[in-house]
Amino acid sequence: MSDDKLTQFLSLVQVDNYESNYIQDITNDTYFGFPISPIIAAEHKLISGEAKSVAYFSMEYGLAPSIYHPFKKRGGIGELNKFAAHQIFSNMRAIDYFVRLDIEKMLDLPIYSGGLGVLAGDTVKTAADLGISMAAVGILWNKGYFKQNFWFRDGQISMDMYWDPHNYPGLIPLKNIIQLKIKSTTLSLRLWKYYVLSFNKQHAVPVILLDANIAENTDEKRRLTDHLYISDRVNWKILQRVILGMGGIKALEELGYNIGIYHLNEGHAALAYVAKSEGKTEEEKERLKDHFAYTCHTPVAAGHDKFSVRDLEPIFTEYQAELLKNLGMDKSVENMVNLTELAINTSKFINVVSKRHAEVTKVQFPAYANRVIPITNGVHIHTWLSKPFSNLFDRYNEVIGDWKKEPTLLKNVVNLRANKQFRIDLWQAHQENKKRLMHLLRHWHFKENVFTLSWARRLAAYKRPSLILQDPSHLIKLAKNIGPIQIIFAGKAHPHDDIGDTIINEMLDRIDALYSSRNLIRIVILENYDTYFGKLLTSSVDIWLNNPLPPFEASGTSGMKAILNGVIQLSTVDGWVVETAGQDIGWVFGYEYKGGDIGSEHNLRMREDSEALYSRLEEIMTIYYKINNNGKIDDESLWIDKMINAIAAGSYFSTHRMVREYIEHIWDKVK
Ligand SMILES: *Cc1c(COP(=O)(O)O)cnc(C)c1O
Repeated sequence: MSDDKLTQFLSLVQVDNYESNYIQDITNDTYFGFPISPIIAAEHKLISGEAKSVAYFSMEYGLAPSIYHPFKKRGGIGELNKFAAHQIFSNMRAIDYFVRLDIEKMLDLPIYSGGLGVLAGDTVKTAADLGISMAAVGILWNKGYFKQNFWFRDGQISMDMYWDPHNYPGLIPLKNIIQLKIKSTTLSLRLWKYYVLSFNKQHAVPVILLDANIAENTDEKRRLTDHLYISDRVNWKILQRVILGMGGIKALEELGYNIGIYHLNEGHAALAYVAKSEGKTEEEKERLKDHFAYTCHTPVAAGHDKFSVRDLEPIFTEYQAELLKNLGMDKSVENMVNLTELAINTSKFINVVSKRHAEVTKVQFPAYANRVIPITNGVHIHTWLSKPFSNLFDRYNEVIGDWKKEPTLLKNVVNLRANKQFRIDLWQAHQENKKRLMHLLRHWHFKENVFTLSWARRLAAYKRPSLILQDPSHLIKLAKNIGPIQIIFAGKAHPHDDIGDTIINEMLDRIDALYSSRNLIRIVILENYDTYFGKLLTSSVDIWLNNPLPPFEASGTSGMKAILNGVIQLSTVDGWVVETAGQDIGWVFGYEYKGGDIGSEHNLRMREDSEALYSRLEEIMTIYYKINNNGKIDDESLWIDKMINAIAAGSYFSTHRMVREYIEHIWDKVK
């Protein structure tokens, strides 16, 4: 074999149109500006089978290259892959028409919608950091999720978004095209690759993306991989799951990867087992289950994929349909196949995403109670920690340790509690983040010394985005009596979610109605919440508001990003927050789940919980305005203690801890 790295790479990875499109970006040493050797090593390992490799399946990946390890592309990334037009809806009316947020940034690889995708992205990055042999499998969504606009009186407008995969840095099309034969049809799928490099750039994980948008397919079939989670037709929804699960298995075979463990991130990928079991004896099929693991992310029953037998039968062969009926029948609805049920019955290992979620799952699926283990979600610290904070931790690394190598060492910040200089520096790092955000919002008159709170995540009913707007007169009273308030909202509602739409309309109305109080309360909603804004907001406000209705939040992760950056939590007691009891990382309020019946998403308890929220806010704002003297803080204040507690807790809610638990409780147990 030649020593030439480029020759090696090109023999392992069949890049389509290398000469005409990628010759400048993939060279003998570099892959879009990153070292190419770890990529070659990762490919060798996956093919040789020398390590027990994990195939990780997920419908979406939020890899956030605009904020972490951005690949470089000679000649630029193309206009379609930039995102410049950020609008805002606020209670300042005219300003919204005349100015936009002046950020020009790279579009984050638009193949995710929210927390589930970000978790998948953070998991893959951490697997690379820990040097695990992994191949990630997903779909190349040609039109992303959607582009969002807020229009007064119309609510959320969702539009197609266009991007250019052929000019996206780090993403390459392969010559490999697989043929996926099912009963009704044959689909041709092009494979793409994107690589995730470890923090130290010494390891890599390939992300394989499947794409139906090629000339071999009919025009109709080409659109199957257009939009993530948006399809009007049931058979399309099914076919998208066929592409991920069954196409994913074919793709791994096509690439010659030697896989020991199939890890399904959510039930969307459950059909992988169906493909893998084809042609096997009963005994082999049983043993196959020992190689499957499944992570369940939602306690909301409607969040599980269900399809009627009538819709499934025309698509699948007799063997496949029988298997679905035998192993995937829903227990509560007749003639429905539930992919959660299928994943549970075909995976030896099942984990849920927090301890509270485990309790809830046991109520929902009592038959599987003793098979479900909790592995609480986390976030990838290197992605979500802001620059001022990473600089701060570097300056104190004698006490903290080499946290870049081992991010969980951030727990040692507690040893700096009595260090006066650290306390001052910590507050200054926070103010530095806040100043940057306030500068971006300067046209809306946002000020760095005003109490600032944010609610940003998916706009789903159970997350109760409008809770703080239940009684605007109460907010006005607080602002008059204690001090001004700034609120930043962001988030997307699923375009077919009518409740989400109603909530948005209600929010826009209430925000607009606060026009006359705009000097006391400044409110903005940012359009097109994404990982870039996720990092900006979670690291820059004073209080991170998290108010899902318990017990419907399986975990939640945005608050984990916030605490790493010393941003204090104001939260209901649900998901990951349950596990922070006694650690004093902020304040909790509202209804608490005490076990048993999980209640209904239709009773959102808005009145009681908003009152509890206002009374907490009164307490918090009073403290804030007492200790914050025009941006300088009383360094003995309990606010700083909470910030220190928050960062220390953040070291636990990291994907480094989470992936190690996957290894210990799942991957190492697979023979
Ligand atoms: C972290 C993140 C989420 C998840 O937020 P939750 O609090 O878990 O709901 C969603 N969207 C984006 C863009 C994120 O960065």
